[in-house]
Amino acid sequence: MLDRLDELTVCNSFACLPDSFYTRLAPRPPGDPRLLHVNRDVAALLGLSPAALDTPEFLDVCAGRAPLPGGQTIATVYSGHQFGVWAGQLGDGRAHLLGEVQGPGGSFELQLKGSGRTPYSRMGDGKAVLRSSVREYLAGEAMAGLGIPTTRALALVVSDDPVYRETVETAAVVTRVSPSFVRFGHFEHWAHSHTEEKILFDYVVDHFYPECREAQGGEPATDEAVVLRFLRTVVRRTAQLMAQWQLAGFCHGVMNTDNMSILGLTIDYGPYGFMDAFQANHICNHTDTGGRYAWNAQPAAANWNLYRLGSALMVLGPDGESLEAQIEPYEADFLAAYHAGITAKLGLGAWREGDEALVNDWWGLLHSQAADFTLSFRRLGGVAESPDAFLDLFSDPVAAQAWLDQYQTRIQGDTRSPAQRRHDMDRANPLYVLRNHLAQQAIEAAGRGDAGEIQRLLDVLRDPYTEQPGYEAYAALPPAWSQEISVSCSS
Ligand code: AMP
Ligand code: MG
Repeated sequence: MLDRLDELTVCNSFACLPDSFYTRLAPRPPGDPRLLHVNRDVAALLGLSPAALDTPEFLDVCAGRAPLPGGQTIATVYSGHQFGVWAGQLGDGRAHLLGEVQGPGGSFELQLKGSGRTPYSRMGDGKAVLRSSVREYLAGEAMAGLGIPTTRALALVVSDDPVYRETVETAAVVTRVSPSFVRFGHFEHWAHSHTEEKILFDYVVDHFYPECREAQGGEPATDEAVVLRFLRTVVRRTAQLMAQWQLAGFCHGVMNTDNMSILGLTIDYGPYGFMDAFQANHICNHTDTGGRYAWNAQPAAANWNLYRLGSALMVLGPDGESLEAQIEPYEADFLAAYHAGITAKLGLGAWREGDEALVNDWWGLLHSQAADFTLSFRRLGGVAESPDAFLDLFSDPVAAQAWLDQYQTRIQGDTRSPAQRRHDMDRANPLYVLRNHLAQQAIEAAGRGDAGEIQRLLDVLRDPYTEQPGYEAYAALPPAWSQEISVSCSS
C-alpha cells in the first residue's frame, strides 16, 4: 500500500489520443472544499493506504485543486441520443478525467464530477449538488455489493458554495473510478468521421476487448471481423447488465446513449432508484413523463441503444446487415441471463419450459399488490420457516397463498435440501438495497457535515446478502415519507 499519491503508477492512455478527443484544462474547484468521505475499498483497489487518504495532497486532487501526480487532466467529447432524439454534441460538461492508475485491483481512470465548466457544458454550470453526489457515491458501491458491473467512487468532497437548481443547494465533487468512462456516445460522436472513429475503436479494443483481435481457425481476424466481434461482445455484456438491473429492481432513469458504458457497466447515476413497491411500469425519473425508461422498458431501451452503436460502427467497414446480425441475439442473451437469474432468485434449481407462467404470475402478483420488490424475494426464501412474514407483504394474502401453492408444487422436484435451497436463495436475493429513503437520510446527515450514515450504508451494502446484526432498520419497508422523495434529472 502506498502512503503518498505521487507513488502511484499513473498513465494517460485516453489523453494520448489525438487532441480532437478532448480539451486539456484544469478543474474549477469549489470554495473551501472538505473531504466528507473516502471509500477505503476503492482506495485499496488503487493501492492507496489509509495514510495516503489523510494527506492534504489527496484532498487537493479530489477537490480539483491539483492534478493527479503524473496525470493529464482532460474533459472528453461525446454525443448521443437523449430520450430517443439525436442531441448532437454533449461531452464531459462537468467532469474532468485525471489519469489512469495502475493499482493492485487493476487499471482505473479517476474522474472528478462536479468539478466546473468545460467546453462541453452547454448551458450547464459545471457543478453537482451534494444531494446527487451522495446518491452517486452510494449507488456505485451498492451495485458493486450486489455484484452488478458499475463505476465506483473514491471520495466525496463538499463545499458551502451555493448551486442553483429548483432551490439553492450546496456543491460537491465526486471522484469516480472506472476502467473506462467511454460511452456509446463517444462512438456516435465520431461516426461521421472515417479517421477518428477508427482511432477510438482501436483504443477501446486494444485496451478492453483484445480478444476480438485473436485469430480464428489459424486465420488472422480481418478488420471487419474485429468490429463485428466487438459489437457482439458489447451486446452480450449489455444484455447481461440489463438482466441484472431487472432482477435487482434497479431503474437507471436516463438510459440515453451517452449514459451507456462501452464496457457494460452501470454509469452516470442520476435519478436512479431501487424499487420499493413493485410496479412493472415504475418510472424513477420524474422528468421521464412518457416512461421511456420505466423498469419494464429498460431491456428494450438498451436494445435500441445498441442499434445506435451498431450504426455508429458502419464507418468502420461492415455493412448494416452484418452489424444487425450481431445485435439480433440480444433478446436471447438477455433471456438467458434473466432466466438464470430468476431461477436462482426463486430457488427453482434449473429453468424449465413451463416456468414462464409461474414467473409471470409472480410478477403479476407483486405488481397487483404493489408488494415490496426486495423483501418479497428474500422472504420467499424463508417461507417454509416463516410463512407469515412472507404473506404479510401482500395486501391480499389469499392471492399470495394461491401463487405459493403453485410454487411449492414446482419446487418439490428440487434435489436440494430446503436448508440448502434457502441458503442459495439468500445469495441471490439481497436483504438490503439502497432504498431512496436510506439515501435521503445519508444526504440529510451529509448536509450537516456528518458522513456517519454514508459509512453505515457502505458497511451494510458491501455484503447485502448477509443479515447483519444492528442493521434491522436498513432491511425494513420504507416509511410513508419516502413516497414524497421526488427524483428528477436535476443534479
Ligand atoms: P446526464 O444526462 O446527466 O448524463 O448529462 C447529459 C449531458 O449534460 C452531459 O454532457 C453532461 O456533462 C451535461 N451536464 C449535466 N449537468 C450539467 C451541469 N450542471 N453542467 C454542465 N454540464 C452538465
Ligand atoms: Mg451522462
